[in-house]
Amino acid sequence: MKETFYITTPIYYPSAKLHIGHAYCTTVADTIARFHRMIGDNTYFLTGTDEHGEKIQKNAEAKGVTPKEFVDDIVLGIKDLWKSLKISNDDYIRTTEERHEKVVQEVFSRFLKQGDIYLSEYEGWYCTPCESFWTESQVGENHICPDCKRPVHKAKEEAYFFRMSKYVDKLLKFYDEHPDFVTPETRKTEMINSFIKPGLEDLCVSRTTFTWGVKVKENPKHVVYVWLDALLNYISALGYLSSDTSKFDTFWGKDAKIVHLVGNDISRFHVIYWPIFLMALNLRMPDKIFVHGLLMMKDEKMSKSKGNVVSPNPLIERYGLDAVRYYLVRETIFGTDGSFTPEQFVSRINVDLVNDFGNLLNRTVAMIIKYFGEIPPYQKELTDIDKELEICGKNTIMLYQNYMQDLKVTEAIIEVMNYVKRANKYIEETKPWELARDENKKTVLASCMNHLANTLRQSAIMLSPVLLETPSKLYSQLGIEEKLQKWETVSDFECLGNQKVVKQDPLFPRLDANIEIEYIKSLMGNI
Ligand SMILES: [Zn+2]
Repeated sequence: MKETFYITTPIYYPSAKLHIGHAYCTTVADTIARFHRMIGDNTYFLTGTDEHGEKIQKNAEAKGVTPKEFVDDIVLGIKDLWKSLKISNDDYIRTTEERHEKVVQEVFSRFLKQGDIYLSEYEGWYCTPCESFWTESQVGENHICPDCKRPVHKAKEEAYFFRMSKYVDKLLKFYDEHPDFVTPETRKTEMINSFIKPGLEDLCVSRTTFTWGVKVKENPKHVVYVWLDALLNYISALGYLSSDTSKFDTFWGKDAKIVHLVGNDISRFHVIYWPIFLMALNLRMPDKIFVHGLLMMKDEKMSKSKGNVVSPNPLIERYGLDAVRYYLVRETIFGTDGSFTPEQFVSRINVDLVNDFGNLLNRTVAMIIKYFGEIPPYQKELTDIDKELEICGKNTIMLYQNYMQDLKVTEAIIEVMNYVKRANKYIEETKPWELARDENKKTVLASCMNHLANTLRQSAIMLSPVLLETPSKLYSQLGIEEKLQKWETVSDFECLGNQKVVKQDPLFPRLDANIEIEYIKSLMGNI
């Protein structure tokens, strides 16, 4: 069944240069989007930047530039980074674009008219980095922001409020009816316990203390609160309320599957407020809020120095795009927290890509050239080990597909790499070098070579949403024609035969661990 699939990353806050932690979520989202395109789904992949707010205004002032100049400069760097990671987003939304600001203003007006938003006065504890007001009980005796744990200060301003109380029961009912709405589920329980059970407060949705934001049409000394502004990117980018709503009708339509990937730090906005805003707009809900973990820097020796981060760019230059993408998708189970260390980075490449995957290709190519010159056709008579390898292949394809559909990208890749490992073991078990010495074993040897080549072909197809350059190198060495590089053929165990095999450079050169670890350490901090 072909689906309509819409996936988004968070829109990043461009207040600092991006590091490998930001590249993490976007690369995983890209892998998921590429998988859905590969299986034929009508896919739309959105990323972008959240460019308003007091923090940006202050950072721009400190730099002596306008906020727009400030964000323009950072956005250039972000777009460059996505280009070097070959991120295949269909659109890039900036909240400073007219197409977005218009939607924010219209939605605000509509909420006002409906009575969902009302004007009042706010006095409370304010956290500048989070741009959030908090109540006395939330900040506690020490006056600390419950979200980011920084100190807050007393502030008072005329402000608009969104009547959250009106929608709380509806939201809880929605959670009940859609137990899969939030992954991991613990994040939803946390939100209910800390924000909804104590009584969900009306949300302050405008500010008058700074000007860098979308102006409230009805009262222009107010700018719209950044989160009401930012969340709307998911629909403004699709043309909601514009003259052409065809994309919106498709990708926010009732049959679309809608997935938002978000970090822990912004799950409150996506799990509570976004569904409520959508209810107020009478629009459908997303299918899934997937709260992923963070990829952090955790080298103790390095953490003492300031700026202990690494940019993906020099890593791509030295190790290649595929090695960096593979590391990002494979190293940390998607959904849990992980940490970047040079040791793990080098070992992941050497173990998985050099030893297991690259080596399987080298051995297979060398043996096929030596014994046949081309891939022998599929043999009808299979040994038990051949059959076992085929069953492993069938299971791998099934598990891979299920995991990918479930956003368990890391688990999907692990299954493929286990299949590759199984094929390496199959060489040890079949001992082709012994078969080659026995003229009566010629067909067994041919079957063995055919199976190895096909395992590589199937693995390359399954890895192609992650590895963008390697599969074509593998196909070229094995002489695999275009139609056999397609997902539609992945389950075909009998398709190979008579492809001319050529030896080329290894897919991934072996890394000298000591040298490379030192090199990566020298990069850390120099961002
Ligand atoms: Zn805070």
